[in-house]
Amino acid sequence: MVSTLKRIVVVGNGIAGLTAADSLRAGGFDGELTMVGAETRPAYSRPALSKALLRSDTDLTSHELPPPDHGATELLGRTAVGLDADRRVLTLDDGTELEYDGLVIASGSRARRLGTGSDELVLRTLDDALALREKLSSRPDVVIVGGGPLGMEAASGALEAGCRVTVVTNEPPLERQLGPYLSSHITAAATARGLTLIITPGARVVDQDGRSRVELADGTIIDGEILLSAVGDIPNTEWLEGSGLADGGPLAVDSRGRLRPEIVAAGDVAAFPLAGANVRSPIWHSAIEQARVAAGALLHGDAAPELQAQPYFWTELFDLNIRVAGRTPLVGEPELVDGALDGPALLRWRHDDGTAAAVSVNYRIPIPRLRKLCD
Ligand SMILES: Cc1cc2nc3c(=O)[nH]c(=O)nc-3n(C[C@H](O)[C@H](O)[C@H](O)COP(=O)(O)OP(=O)(O)OC[C@H]3O[C@@H](n4cnc5c(N)ncnc54)[C@H](O)[C@@H]3O)c2cc1C
Repeated sequence: MVSTLKRIVVVGNGIAGLTAADSLRAGGFDGELTMVGAETRPAYSRPALSKALLRSDTDLTSHELPPPDHGATELLGRTAVGLDADRRVLTLDDGTELEYDGLVIASGSRARRLGTGSDELVLRTLDDALALREKLSSRPDVVIVGGGPLGMEAASGALEAGCRVTVVTNEPPLERQLGPYLSSHITAAATARGLTLIITPGARVVDQDGRSRVELADGTIIDGEILLSAVGDIPNTEWLEGSGLADGGPLAVDSRGRLRPEIVAAGDVAAFPLAGANVRSPIWHSAIEQARVAAGALLHGDAAPELQAQPYFWTELFDLNIRVAGRTPLVGEPELVDGALDGPALLRWRHDDGTAAAVSVNYRIPIPRLRKLCD
């Protein structure tokens, strides 16, 4: 099948697009490879944006990735605006039409907003992070809506920058992602460092006197000089409208990332089959493993391996470095594998279905060994 593909176009220059391009080359594709990326910058590490990059004492390189060696023609600052899947033609915002034999859709997602004001900040791109870092340097009072990984990491960075920080969240921090045990651990570390935490349903962002503010369900206004919303992301699929591939949600692909034999999708924009449903897994390692699988499917069709998801997630916040191998959330009490519950620890949870998840908390262990604990 490799020999029939002469031109492959990758839409999206994030980690999924980059990995797909690298994997296509590694898989033997030596034809014309074109990458279309809406951002003007080369691919960078998004996870760094809410961690080292927010800390004023660190340099501005933590997000950098090694320069690519896939040899693709990179059209950066260019956006795909339309797709004719039957003619196999992609249209860009400057009117350019790109013909392809194979297409990788890796257009990722964007931050969800709760209001309409431009003073409601979000954290998705390097530009967002640089702007936030600059604002934090004057130590404003910060209000963050959202107690997921992004909101809590940003809260940690803002506290370290010397700001007063309030997080408004509708559930205990990171409980949905990691489960109650780690949520309590993170909450304790956060409040010990001075975070004000408001856990309440129904908060919204309203315009008051020309400023975006957070209003709780009882009408209370939580005021701050900076408002950051960290309330999830929306897959970038609008450009596929009319192509017959998108229905307004994420792109539901098969277990090899395919929408059609010659069109694959990977990363935050894609929903792979899992336990009978198509679900997104908008995390860094999933984007990488999905992009590898999708590139393989483009080159080798049904002979390519299906996705065997090996979930891996990490977060750094409030002096905690937490890494999780295996399925989350983690329910119940952990087994202490090594270390101490009140210090560096290696933990394991057994799920009801017989699988396990392993977690390191400030505990140094290579990822393969952490994964091994899930066996
Ligand atoms: C601040 C932050 C911190 C994070 N921290 C962690 C973490 O600690 N651990 C973890 O596992 N995950 C983390 N994540 C999630 C992780 O970064 C993402 O899952 C991953 O980056 C997704 O990669 P992607 O390539 O699918 O999408 P993206 O990174 O969104 O890349 C898609 C690219 O496509 C471009 N694009 C969109 N539409 C078009 C178009 N029509 N034409 C051309 N280009 C287009 C976009 O501009 C973007 O550059 C974090 C995310 C954020 C925002």
